Amino acid sequence: EEFLIKLVLLFLIPGWTGVNERTLVAVKPDGVQRRLVGEIMRRFENRGFKLVALKLVQASEDLLRKHYWDLRSKPFFRGLMSYMSEGPMVVMVWEGLDVIKTARNMLGENNPADSLPGTIRGDFCVEVGRNVIHGSDSVESAEKEISLWFGQNELHCWVHNSRPWIYN
Ligand code: ADP
Repeated sequence: EEFLIKLVLLFLIPGWTGVNERTLVAVKPDGVQRRLVGEIMRRFENRGFKLVALKLVQASEDLLRKHYWDLRSKPFFRGLMSYMSEGPMVVMVWEGLDVIKTARNMLGENNPADSLPGTIRGDFCVEVGRNVIHGSDSVESAEKEISLWFGQNELHCWVHNSRPWIYN
């Protein structure tokens, strides 16, 4: 099964590079409660990225377990599962040149104390266990996470009006 997934990824990834690169960004339950959704989306819009999917979801434990599978043996895993279940999240897919790396820079460091002012974590939180936002960390995890949180029919193709002013 894993082999099949890798095979599918190999075909999908080439179409998802350059200006078509995509990343999964999620405003975590604390970010939604603290009404940071608009502020966070504004930053991605202003930067020039294109929104291709968006929803408000109360994540199931099963989904969260799959999402954070790589962290399953960490001591904070149980706490992380309950944090992420505390309320709805706003999950979105943003598209654009180097969006994965750029989004991670916009988010700041994993630990808010290491995050520079101007970054989302550097501006809006203080604790790693309440760090407001998630962003995919590689092409491979972006691909995996997008297919986990969204169905094909939820990803929208549309033309960014200002595209010729954002890309040469
Ligand atoms: P990132 O979200 O920056 O990619 P990780 O993948 O390492 O970071 O961790 C996923 C999430 O797990 C973090 O965003 C944070 O919510 C939580 N987490 C990470 N480390 C800790 C920790 N030491 N204590 C509590 N929660 C943590």
